[in-house]
Amino acid sequence: MSNALSLCESTAPAQDAIRWRRSYCPYCGVGCGLNIALRANSVVKVKGDPRHPANFGEICAKAAHLGPTVGAAGRLLYPHIRERRGGALRRVAWPQALAYAAARMREIIAAHGPDAVAFYGSGQLLTEDYYVFNKLAKGFLGTNNFDSNSRLCMASAAAAYTAAFGTDGPPVSYEDIELADLFLIVGSNTAWCHPITLRRIEKRRQSAPDARVIVIDPRRTETADLADLHLAIVPGSDIALLSAMLAILVRERMVDEGFIASHTVGWDAVRDAALAWTPQRAAHACGVPAQAIVEAALTFGRARHRLSLWSMGVNQSSSGTAKAAAIINLHLATGSIGKPGCGPLALTGQPNAMGGREVGGLAHLLPGYRRVDNPAHRAEVARHWRVPVARLSPGPGLAAIELFEAAAEGRVKALWIIATNPAVSMPDLDLVERALRYAQLVVVQDSYHPTDTSAFADLLLPAAQWPEKEGVMTNSERRLTLVPRLLDPPGEALADWEIGALFARHMGFSTAFGFADSESVFEEYKALTAHTPVDIRGVSYERLRKGPLQWPCPAPEHPGTPRLYVDLRFNTPDGRAQFNAVGSVDAGEKPDSLFPLVLTTGRVRNQWHTMTRTGRVAALMKAAPEPYLEIHPLDAAEAGVTDGGFVEVRSRRGLFVAQARVTGEIARGVCFAPFHWGRASGPFKAANNLTARSRDPISRQPELKLCAINVTPVSRPDISGPDLGTHTNRAHRAPAGRPDLVAEDFE
Ligand code: SF4
Repeated sequence: MSNALSLCESTAPAQDAIRWRRSYCPYCGVGCGLNIALRANSVVKVKGDPRHPANFGEICAKAAHLGPTVGAAGRLLYPHIRERRGGALRRVAWPQALAYAAARMREIIAAHGPDAVAFYGSGQLLTEDYYVFNKLAKGFLGTNNFDSNSRLCMASAAAAYTAAFGTDGPPVSYEDIELADLFLIVGSNTAWCHPITLRRIEKRRQSAPDARVIVIDPRRTETADLADLHLAIVPGSDIALLSAMLAILVRERMVDEGFIASHTVGWDAVRDAALAWTPQRAAHACGVPAQAIVEAALTFGRARHRLSLWSMGVNQSSSGTAKAAAIINLHLATGSIGKPGCGPLALTGQPNAMGGREVGGLAHLLPGYRRVDNPAHRAEVARHWRVPVARLSPGPGLAAIELFEAAAEGRVKALWIIATNPAVSMPDLDLVERALRYAQLVVVQDSYHPTDTSAFADLLLPAAQWPEKEGVMTNSERRLTLVPRLLDPPGEALADWEIGALFARHMGFSTAFGFADSESVFEEYKALTAHTPVDIRGVSYERLRKGPLQWPCPAPEHPGTPRLYVDLRFNTPDGRAQFNAVGSVDAGEKPDSLFPLVLTTGRVRNQWHTMTRTGRVAALMKAAPEPYLEIHPLDAAEAGVTDGGFVEVRSRRGLFVAQARVTGEIARGVCFAPFHWGRASGPFKAANNLTARSRDPISRQPELKLCAINVTPVSRPDISGPDLGTHTNRAHRAPAGRPDLVAEDFE
């Protein structure tokens, strides 16, 4: 069944011989290169690859502990069918599983049309995985309902880049970190979520004493500890702050009038709107001193090489696109783009969120940054796929939350979920559960089982994971790395692209999905990028085996492109960048007398997403074995909450129960809870019981960072299912020496 099986490098080595191979970290968008020690069919050690330009040999604890996450334990090994809801899963052979899926899909499409089916993928997927399912949904089934959890990660950044520069794509490289003298870090706990990037910033600080770091975050995180200036703003007030900073730059004549006049449009309206934000007005909105806002603006204005980095605190918002646009406006106003050490860099959460954008893995996109609503783009793609153009739907498909709303309302009948766990990661979990119960067919294609999502599956399909499949990933700086297949998948697990191709063949599309291997998928995709901003015709597996490359890379002799827009021509029709209006207030749920506090959610040190992988490593669980709620001492006193005591946290949607961490490291009026736990760990351990479904109107990215809550103390509750757990409220921040950067042995 698997042509790819012949590509496995691990055939017949001596059982105890150690082989070192190069690989790539499957966790976050930093995209670190790894050196992997293999013995037989297991990973026995992981080190950083000193030759990889994303990390130069450093790795964090998550990568160091990758070994125990592979192998058969806790893995989904065989296809299973659940013939009736509430019934048991029954192991079946692959042909039977695929025939069942094809029959049910045909039935649903015949009765309700192609938009009654939807696929929900993941930034964990390889570019080849994305390509095959995207081609199947949009080119052959006739629906644009292929979206991914990247919608929850960086859709707002992609929308803001597109609005400003004409197309998506971060303009800078990590090497700009070593050239910058000002780091504006907004809504990102880089120290925990992108630790190797933070390490590079720390090193730059050490080597350039004049370099400055400004952190904008409601929490005093380890990233904020690095800052010369930390602005602990009220969640959702970013636009007020960034607009006031722009106004100060205007008043102090720190903008680059020449660059603005020659290379941009839309300045007057943006400038005039920003000037309405005095430091005092912004201080009132943001809850920080006016003088701190002035200092931030002047520090930004005086710097020569300005690099801005942002992440979920900006993107996961009902104003996420506007917030990201406000950051980009600062760069356009000061001409800080297209030059060494300058530019706006959105840090992607997942290892191949960037690749997903490039290959069209969102409901409004087609490969090569094309759009489904553009007739010329549809025609180009239809030609390449050899299908009638009418097969490609012009309407944007359902995006993440919309997709689950449609399933809960009965409009989407079949949900195919790949390499992600929405029953933990999506906001408003009641909605997600309703969708999973109400859909007529739920296919879950994953490496692990059980998960909160796989519990709802009618059909379970076992997927290979890192490092059991070969393909390409793109990191936050547009760098493509080949992830090699180094181990045999356990049981009957197959590469995700291969499952997609086999299913397509069962649907009758044998010619178009007759891929021999992942390389042939990549070759077909790369031809589609010709003459697009993400042109990678010069990239091949052969070249990538020698080292990673940054796009665009249009020819085999092309060295790749570290920095975009160096000629100051943008991908807009007139070549000028666009200033974008950002509005004046953030949308989103506001606190009131019933729900007087604001909740923001996020990650804990060393955990990855919904813990299907990192949750299996005891060493990674040490920092936070249970969910918790951070609350300011004054808010705690008002609510009668004590440090270490249990609290009930309620929003308009649900209940969360955890121990309180009373800490001055969070702003007054704001609470924080990690989102990693789902209801399977205990029905009230899921922070996404609380979060709201509101979303950005442009990017359609949900507002995971802000909802209104109340907090009340409870005696140790018995409502949590298996084990609510307790922890001492010990310091959860890093002791000296940054253990998250220490690669420990797990052999
Ligand atoms: S920072 Fe850590 S998790 Fe992210 S890619 Fe690098 S090693 Fe992996």
